[in-house]
Amino acid sequence: MEPPVWNLDQLYCLDRPELAADLAALKDQTREFTAWRARLQNGPPSPLEFRDLVAELANLNRLAHRLSGFASLAFAQDTQDQKAQALMARMNEEMADLGNDLLFFEIWWKELDGEEAAPLASAAADFAYWLERTRAFRPHTLPEPEEKIINLKNITGGDALVALYDSLTNRYRFRPPKSKGEAEVGRDELMVHVRDADPEIRAEAYRELYRVFGADGPILGQMYQTSVRDWRVENIRLRHYENPIEVRHKANDLPGEAVAALLKTVRERAGLFGDFFRLKARVLGLTKFRRYDLYAPLVEDRAKVDFQTGFEEVLAAFGDFSPRFQSLAARVAEAGRFHARPRPGKQGGAFCYSMLPGDTPWVLMTYNGRRQDLFTLAHELGHAVHSQLAGDHNIFHFHATLPLAETASTFAEMLLAGRLKNQAQSDRERADLLFHLLDDAYATIGRQAFFALFEIKAHELTENGATADDLAAVYLENLAEQFDGAVEVGPEFRWEWVSIPHFFHTPFYVYAYSFGQLLVYSLWRRYEQEGAAFVPRLTDLLSRGGSEAPEKILAASGLGPLDETFWQNGFEVIEGFLAELKTLV
Ligand SMILES: [Zn+2]
Repeated sequence: MEPPVWNLDQLYCLDRPELAADLAALKDQTREFTAWRARLQNGPPSPLEFRDLVAELANLNRLAHRLSGFASLAFAQDTQDQKAQALMARMNEEMADLGNDLLFFEIWWKELDGEEAAPLASAAADFAYWLERTRAFRPHTLPEPEEKIINLKNITGGDALVALYDSLTNRYRFRPPKSKGEAEVGRDELMVHVRDADPEIRAEAYRELYRVFGADGPILGQMYQTSVRDWRVENIRLRHYENPIEVRHKANDLPGEAVAALLKTVRERAGLFGDFFRLKARVLGLTKFRRYDLYAPLVEDRAKVDFQTGFEEVLAAFGDFSPRFQSLAARVAEAGRFHARPRPGKQGGAFCYSMLPGDTPWVLMTYNGRRQDLFTLAHELGHAVHSQLAGDHNIFHFHATLPLAETASTFAEMLLAGRLKNQAQSDRERADLLFHLLDDAYATIGRQAFFALFEIKAHELTENGATADDLAAVYLENLAEQFDGAVEVGPEFRWEWVSIPHFFHTPFYVYAYSFGQLLVYSLWRRYEQEGAAFVPRLTDLLSRGGSEAPEKILAASGLGPLDETFWQNGFEVIEGFLAELKTLV
């Protein structure tokens, strides 16, 4: 069996009139809806009118998702198709216009005072969380003229600074390792070499990376500190957030204590990753383990797995957990919504697109038979299970919010890893999988949490007059702590922080990676302890989609609270991997 191709005709055909008719209908309905803009100026609607308005907005969104979803799927399956390109460009414009036309409603809702909002919110109780989230930023919102000035000045201020950072760093060129006058390459091409089997090549690649970034280190650092000051001035002084990271907590709807407990736990358990690196050094036959060796390869690529076998293996892994999970995962392919075949012009990467509640999601990936492809398959089908379980919620609630968005996908990868580990023919194969899991755990949990710890410190120090060189020194201390003395770090790594685009683009975003992955490990620990009794808990958690705050969802499924014990449970899984690996190598 060849990897399948999906059937987009289920939605629309590029050449048929239904698409244009639906787009016209969407515009008509939007026009009707915007008639409310003037009416709302004269006072709030009745609770019944309000309920209808929100339901109508949800309908508009459903139709818009269907139309723009079709355009992006058609484009993803063949990015070279001119009709698909044209439709995509057209839809982007239409959706931007639509968004602008509808924005008045959310602005009005956000600005409404509490007493007027309360009876309306209870009339539209199905939409409670979305309504509440829309108003959540009210205490941090400034009067309209001030918001307008901030928006205007951002274009040439903060946003321009980040754009300059991108322009500057994206044009960096690097000499490939062992270069004998070959053409210089971009960063992605250079970074391929940090996974080379030759230790000298790995070292050279890193030295080259930070030679280039380091040459501009002080100026990139200055740009970073300027954006840090901008963040502080706007969010602390003007919007009255308590501290810089609280802005991100609010966006994620997470209590600061839960994230603080996460970061504290990762810090305390840094030694576990240290032990892993010591073991890795031994297996690689290295007397000292350098930062350059972090991604050193342990095994050569193995035999390929044909699609039929791989797909059945992944479905069986879902089935090991719950027959319902298995059938929801299988449905994606049965419904003709799975595109896994390599094709010229097809978009790279992988995604699961859950377009509408109650509807089978669309999954795209390119299956080449490598082991990584099996994990990608499990990951994306995990997303598909999640959104189908949450299919009873409205369009504003059925997508999980960021902190829980990777729960089902990462859990599905764990299910696959567990199954492959049990079936492994040799210790070598089992060790291989464990290395893969631990590498992943470090990169997602350890590294990202320490990034966040650095950001917290950098914001604090910048406020107190630190220079870019001071931050570089603090960054080296951060690395020393996270590697627990197990990794030798060259001085050029002091400029690593100026090479992390997330720090510039989305301050404090990185902790979400750590949060999501360790959360799944903690859930996995519960599964190990409770067995079948855990299945309905996870099913319940996923079924809630994004209809409540993450912490409430976890509590309601009996899986919280997000305290230190919770995060320590996650580390017990990592500890288990490491203990098992030690017996194998
Ligand atoms: Zn994902």
